[in-house]
Amino acid sequence: MRKVCLNCKTEYTPSLEQLMELELRPEDVVGKKFYYGKGCNNCNNTGYKGRFGIYEILLLDDDMRDMIIQHASTQVLRMEAKKRGMRTLRSAGLMSIYDGISSIEEVVRETIVEEG
Ligand SMILES: [Zn+2]
Repeated sequence: MRKVCLNCKTEYTPSLEQLMELELRPEDVVGKKFYYGKGCNNCNNTGYKGRFGIYEILLLDDDMRDMIIQHASTQVLRMEAKKRGMRTLRSAGLMSIYDGISSIEEVVRETIVEEG
């Protein structure tokens, strides 16, 4: 994902529509800060400079292993993994927003909403 440019990084209050794109309610983000890049010479007016990676990590326990051996569908495995606290790409993206590294737009663009 692209990093918000440190040179023109600006704090702002996201609109309700922007929050909804990440399936967030205003009460979910109380006390959180949001940033975007205004654009400057440093970032060619894109508001972004540099990149970083976000990851989805699935830790396999015996139950999950058994499910895989029994050819459980990806959807079933995903649901089970999330139940067990797997950090999805979207939630990793959210953390990067809250850390001030990324923007709502970038996370919406680079990660998909999953049902369930
Ligand atoms: Zn900039």
